[in-house]
Amino acid sequence: MPDPKPSHRAWFRSIKDHDETYPLDEVVYTARDGSLLEVAHDMDELRKTPAEEWKRLFASRTHSSEWPYGSGVWGKKEWVLPGIDNEHAVSMYEGHTNLFWADRYGREIGIDDFWIKQCGNSHTGSFKDLGMTVLVSQVNDMRRRGVDIPAVACASTGDTSAALAAYAAAAAIPAVVFLPRGKVSVAQLIQPVANGAIVFALDTDFDGCMEIVKEISLRDGIYLANSMNSLRIEGQKTVGIEIVEQFDWEVPDWMVIPGGNLGNVSALAKGLDMLRDLGLIDRVPRIVCAQAEAANPLYLSYQRDFEVFEPISARPTLANAIQIGNPVSIDKAIDALKRYDGIVEQASEAEIAESCARADRTGLFNCPHTGVALAATEKLVRQGVIQKSDRVVTISTAHGLKFVDFKVRYHEMQLEGIESQLPNPPIELPASYQTVRDEMQRQIDQRFGR
Ligand SMILES: *Cc1c(COP(=O)(O)O)cnc(C)c1O
Repeated sequence: MPDPKPSHRAWFRSIKDHDETYPLDEVVYTARDGSLLEVAHDMDELRKTPAEEWKRLFASRTHSSEWPYGSGVWGKKEWVLPGIDNEHAVSMYEGHTNLFWADRYGREIGIDDFWIKQCGNSHTGSFKDLGMTVLVSQVNDMRRRGVDIPAVACASTGDTSAALAAYAAAAAIPAVVFLPRGKVSVAQLIQPVANGAIVFALDTDFDGCMEIVKEISLRDGIYLANSMNSLRIEGQKTVGIEIVEQFDWEVPDWMVIPGGNLGNVSALAKGLDMLRDLGLIDRVPRIVCAQAEAANPLYLSYQRDFEVFEPISARPTLANAIQIGNPVSIDKAIDALKRYDGIVEQASEAEIAESCARADRTGLFNCPHTGVALAATEKLVRQGVIQKSDRVVTISTAHGLKFVDFKVRYHEMQLEGIESQLPNPPIELPASYQTVRDEMQRQIDQRFGR
């Protein structure tokens, strides 16, 4: 298998001024005017390889044991981060997650061709692994080449810190994480703790943690691992590429994705851009970004045709990873949605909980953020925007096992302000055959209407 040619090159550039560029091994997060950077690739060089050859190469690497190409991210190394030494890649075989055919759930909500991309079936249980493998690999490569980077750090609503802690631990790089105290799930908190990160629980929200980590990275030379750092987008962009690849390069009609800081929706579009620009596909899907009503600044901007954007103060939501009022990737996201005939939809707390429960009843086990995207999908189907025969892929961002607290409370009917239409609490009975048998028969009849 050929290594990426040295001619494959990538660099940072300002999203506003493409002539303002920086090498990927420079510690820089924003352009001179404060706008975000993006990773640019030498597209002319990549175009020298025909589309069919890329498809063959990607297929040949899938699950290969040749380091690091078996990973869903590193199997596309030329498109992601061509310049680093393979030995310096920090990978946990992320990507290649299941594209779940949600047949029963799809039929229940009125679509015939419904799929859920299970990004949470990953090393730390969320899609954040896709981006973190790239960022930590770049840092590892720089440290091995003698660049002085004392640690990596992030502010997090829970999943970013889990991914950073795991990848940094694997590479023996010190990691520092800043979490809003009491606002992340137990599973999310224990992951960086167990992986040996330096964990700070601060009396603030995510946006407050972000302020602190920005200051620390600027003043103390600690490497910033938030999605403001556009290296993460390079890994995350493989999700859209992978979905299309899993359909044998057929493009679905819709991709629905939850959004908080809005790096992921931007990444989704960036991956699809590359597929189109390099001739692997000749049409694109429409993209829907789904927000929690409690944290909906993008939705509010969409209502005004993206002509204005105002940060808000996000209220608590079951979907805690997207409780963000001032998303860092707002400009990239608006741009992406404009390119992909995008829609922004929102979901209330009750809609989130009920969509999760309904989907769970069909064999899934969804996190609340996925619930936001499922609720948005359901709404667009009801509105007739998504048609019954459309092929729809909703992106599940984390594993439900990281968010059992809200499921427990849902099924105990303890979620404030939510009725729980599908509660299924354990039935407590004395251990007597007759009592158990009678209740069991009653339950089977009631649920399956025999
Ligand atoms: C980070 C995260 C999101 C939001 O992604 P953004 O890039 O911040 O929009 C959604 N769901 C889960 C589970 C996450 O961890």
